[in-house]
Amino acid sequence: MLAVRPEPAPVSDFADRILGWFERHGRHDLPWQGTGDPYTVWISEIMLQQTQVTTVIPYYRRFMARFPDVASLAAAPLDEVLHLWSGLGYYARARNLHQAARQVVSEYGGRFPQNLEEVMALPGIGRSTAGAILSLALGQRHAILDGNVKRVLARHAAIEGWPGHVRVARRLWALAEALTPPRRVADYNQAMMDLGAGCCTRTRPNCEACPVQADCKAFASGRQEAFPGRRPRGNLPVRRVQMLVVRDDRARILLERRPLQGIWGGLWGLPELALAEDPLEWCTRAGMGASRLGRRLPGRRHAFSHFHLEIHPREILLERAGCCLADGDRLLWHDPRRPGQLGLAAPVLRILDEIDQPEGE
Ligand code: SF4
Repeated sequence: MLAVRPEPAPVSDFADRILGWFERHGRHDLPWQGTGDPYTVWISEIMLQQTQVTTVIPYYRRFMARFPDVASLAAAPLDEVLHLWSGLGYYARARNLHQAARQVVSEYGGRFPQNLEEVMALPGIGRSTAGAILSLALGQRHAILDGNVKRVLARHAAIEGWPGHVRVARRLWALAEALTPPRRVADYNQAMMDLGAGCCTRTRPNCEACPVQADCKAFASGRQEAFPGRRPRGNLPVRRVQMLVVRDDRARILLERRPLQGIWGGLWGLPELALAEDPLEWCTRAGMGASRLGRRLPGRRHAFSHFHLEIHPREILLERAGCCLADGDRLLWHDPRRPGQLGLAAPVLRILDEIDQPEGE
């Protein structure tokens, strides 16, 4: 009798190869893994948007120590949430988290919803994040398509075009859905994110170590870095502003709360003026008393998705103690020696650090 040779595993079995790779090379010890708790996965997923794992971990630990569950987050003042978010950037994420936590408490009695549509209806949670929360925490079968997964799929199938275009996004979602296995979805989704972050990187992907290299079209054509397609964009406009570091004779600094809508919404920042405006006149109008110009710190640029902000920081020295502020919700005197719990935008933090250095350092 002839011996029957077992069929080789089909090379197209994408999920099996991904899962095999995950056993050996995936991340298995992230602090939010294996909790089975949608709340912890939600916090981590929101922090991980636009931010790398190594940066996120200490923020995540501090955040969870202070807000261990959805009820504690919902009950906290927004200022405290923004304070714990300071430095992570993209502050709309923190405002949405806070608002969503309040919604979970008011609409679901504090129990995180477990249905994809309900999760997607919460502020700041899109389809991919909702899928990640429910698959990673509860093992539900949902595809994900974050930046890392988009890159792997777009390269593997050589999908041309910018994923921000509906037509391209539809193709990627269809592919993500088709490839997501019926079992071990949490491992598979984590593996896809890990593969994109550690192997199929934006530049110089490590294709030699990739489990799906054998049928990767971008690899075969040597065009890995052409996928995913870039956003078509013209030159971004530049907005130029002065930021005033107004100090009184006790070295306190005037801070202004930014409007909730717009960049750094709800955070505390420095008073902002058009470049052409006279800062001393501004101080007089604001009732700050006698003032003089201090140091001019180097200008700097901060990139947003739709424009660049060019910041020109200028120190203004008041001769007396800062006046009482009629609008304490919008303005405050900040004592850098007693920092307190204030959410400050990262460029503002840097300006405050620099202005504390003696001149010439
Ligand atoms: S072979 Fe290279 S380009 Fe293709 S998916 Fe793997 S790492 Fe990415």
